[in-house]
Amino acid sequence: MNVAIRAEVIGDDDLIRTIKLSNRACQECIEIGMREHTFNKTRLHQLTYQMIRKSHPELNSSLVTAVRDQASDMLKRLKLKKKPTKKNDSSIRLNHNTFRLLTDSKIISISTISGRKKYAIKIPSYFSKYDFKSSESARIKTKKGRIFMDIIVEVITPNPHKVKKVIGVDRGVYNPAVTSDNTFFNSRKLREVKGRYKYLKGCLQRAGTRSAKRHLQKLAGRERQFVTDVNHCISKKIVNKDCDAIALEELRTGSMKRKGKVGKKTRKLIGNWSAKQLLSFITYKAEMIGKSIILVNSHFTSQACNRCGDIRKSNRKGKIFKCCVCSYTLHADLNASRNIACLAKGVMSRLVVNQPNVACDELKASLREELRANIVTSFASI
Ligand SMILES: [Zn+2]
Repeated sequence: MNVAIRAEVIGDDDLIRTIKLSNRACQECIEIGMREHTFNKTRLHQLTYQMIRKSHPELNSSLVTAVRDQASDMLKRLKLKKKPTKKNDSSIRLNHNTFRLLTDSKIISISTISGRKKYAIKIPSYFSKYDFKSSESARIKTKKGRIFMDIIVEVITPNPHKVKKVIGVDRGVYNPAVTSDNTFFNSRKLREVKGRYKYLKGCLQRAGTRSAKRHLQKLAGRERQFVTDVNHCISKKIVNKDCDAIALEELRTGSMKRKGKVGKKTRKLIGNWSAKQLLSFITYKAEMIGKSIILVNSHFTSQACNRCGDIRKSNRKGKIFKCCVCSYTLHADLNASRNIACLAKGVMSRLVVNQPNVACDELKASLREELRANIVTSFASI
């Protein structure tokens, strides 16, 4: 897997101007690609190369080809349906023709508008465990007058461990994560901070002045950073638990919102929710230490009883789960996380991950069977 190492470049005006010019040239490639309706690299090369060499003679040929490749990929990503935009301070890609790491990775040599130049870089000591000398690709961007570089390093991940112990993780709106071994990651702090930002945002939006708008943008960035940090902390703790595999449910928040079954307040909560980011953090952190990720179907995981396998909506009342058949009572999220772990064990034993698209009743029946079978086997193993 690839890891991006963020380093600061002690650059000069030449480097900043190179980034700006490359971004402008990239936008020109995008405009032409949209007009001619193509993202094919050869076609785009024929259409843009000579023109950009003429309009920006400072950019050398390898910078121009790198820019064209980036424009092609951006067009491809949006399938030519929407025009991508490249700002002046966006990141530009560097490849083995345009950059090289020299002497102990403390100096880089980059193609700029005034020829090849050498710059010192600062790499945080945390990243010293990676071998980035052989890296041949990077991204470089400017941010508030400083220059940052993401060096892409390929990390060899260890082979997955043999799965013996599975931990189920239930992600929710109120508790970001609850694991099947009784750990609750609660969001009191998260909600408190989000509430504070919400209040501040309200005040600023009411003010509506230009300075208020500027502050709003700053706030959005800070809030995002805070949520990212929380997700990093939670994912780290989950991944470091004593287990070989982590089971999570596939969540489709988009379809949850579209169903029209949820109210405005819940929709807003789902919109604020960062479950997708948490999943991506858990996935890459687990991959790096050789643990597996098992995704299970999210249907009825919060309605099924973990003791008898009964599935019905009335089993769950708010945060409490109480089975109507066997009166088994538990925190609803904890019950769901245990169901997820059970389902994952079923997936592991069958070793078939792709589940057929069955009708709701059939799914319910098969799920009940699976839950029951796994609950019985887990009792037997105790
Ligand atoms: Zn029950």
